[in-house]
This record gives sequence, C-alpha cells and structure tokens, in this order.
Amino acid sequence: MALGPRARVLLLAALVFAGVAALVWYLSYGYWSQPVTPLRPPANSAEALTPTPPATPQAGATPQAEATATPAPSPAPTEQTTPSPSPQSLLQPQGGDTNATLASMRLLLPVQGVRAEELRDTFSDSRSEGRVHDAIDIMAPRNSPVLAAADGRVVRLFRSVKGGITLYQLAAADEHIVLYYAHLERYADGLAEGHLARRGETVGYVGDTGNATPGDTHLHFQIYRVADPRHFWTGDNVNPYPLLRGAQ
Ligand SMILES: [Zn+2]
Repeated sequence: MALGPRARVLLLAALVFAGVAALVWYLSYGYWSQPVTPLRPPANSAEALTPTPPATPQAGATPQAEATATPAPSPAPTEQTTPSPSPQSLLQPQGGDTNATLASMRLLLPVQGVRAEELRDTFSDSRSEGRVHDAIDIMAPRNSPVLAAADGRVVRLFRSVKGGITLYQLAAADEHIVLYYAHLERYADGLAEGHLARRGETVGYVGDTGNATPGDTHLHFQIYRVADPRHFWTGDNVNPYPLLRGAQ
C-alpha cells in the first residue's frame, strides 16, 4: 500500500509530534517527580535534627522518667532523704540559699487555730523501717483548715498509702521548694492541680488518712528543696520547725 508524498510527510510529522510529546511528558514527569526528591533532604535534615535532641538526652529522657515516676510520688518525701548524686551536685550551688529563701518566704503556720508555741519539733523522730520523720506533725482537731504556708502552685493532689490524702505545692520564685501536706481529711472544695494557692488560703482539712493512727488527727507538713520542680516528689528535707516557730 503506497502512500503519497503528502501522506508520508503527514506521517513523519505525526511521528515527530508524538516523539516530542513523549519527550515532553518524560521531562515533565521527571520535573514533577523531582519535588518528591527535594522533599527528602528536608526529611534528612529533620533526621539531622533528631541527633540534636539526643544532644540533650535529659530533655528526652526526663519526661519519660517523669511519666513513669509521676504516678508514684507516694513513697516520696517520707522516705527519700538522699536524692541521687546528680541532683545533689545540682543543688550545691543553690543549696546554701535554701535557708535564706525559706526565711524570706515567711512561712505561715499551715493549720488554722494552732499557735507556734504549741508546735513540737518531730523532724528527727524515727519512724518505722528505720526511717526518719523529716517533717513536722502539727496536732489539730479534725477538719481544722489547712492553710497554704506560702504562695505556690498546687502541683499534685495525690492519695498514697502512707500519706493518705496529700498535696504537693511548689513554692519560691523558682519553684524549687516543695511544701508537702499529708493525712488530710479532704481537700478544699474545688481545689485542682495547677491552682496557684496564696499564702493563708485554705487548701484542705486536717484528718488522719494514710498511716496516721486513727483518731490521731494531725497535719504532716514537710519542706524540701528539689533540684528540678518536675521531680517534685524528692529532694533535700528542711526542718520546718524553726521556720514555723517564728511564724504567726
Ligand atoms: Zn508526720
């Protein structure tokens, strides 16, 4: 079947057109697929960012450690007398300031109706299992209002076997001082974690929950300095007695 010269030219033109079209398609495909590749370097640089967090491994590790540890601040202040070495080394530069900080906070005697002269220094008293008290027990009738001894954020409301109904408050400007209230009968109405309790504000009521002898209603009040407020359940204990003794 013979094609005329005009048909041959048309056929050639069609082939050339088809070839160009194919080339254009190929190039454009290559072009549009490229943005996929450029996206990878960002992905790689994102990976390059990941090495950076490892450069601050504590930042990555602490939240996890915190996540696991947070549910169990129960054994907290009563048992911990010596935090791990690293927090202590962190403490040393600031540790000397603790007394000055606490003095400047002018702690309020945290139970309404109790006078400073009635306090007894039970800080060094021994407790079960060879523990030391590391706190002060403030004897008071059941349901006596428990007052925030200083301004500070309520960081945890927690029920533990030993402490019963407890409250952790972060005080001082840098939130490195923890005020711990235990054996509460109950919290103040509507009290929630995160609340900034003001000095003198009622945060709870005296009771005998936890391992307090039934009927032996008192506030177990403990003060300690933490290396990191995120690890608010352990730190270096400070005797509240001399601080409260001078309180009104
Ligand atoms: Zn106690």
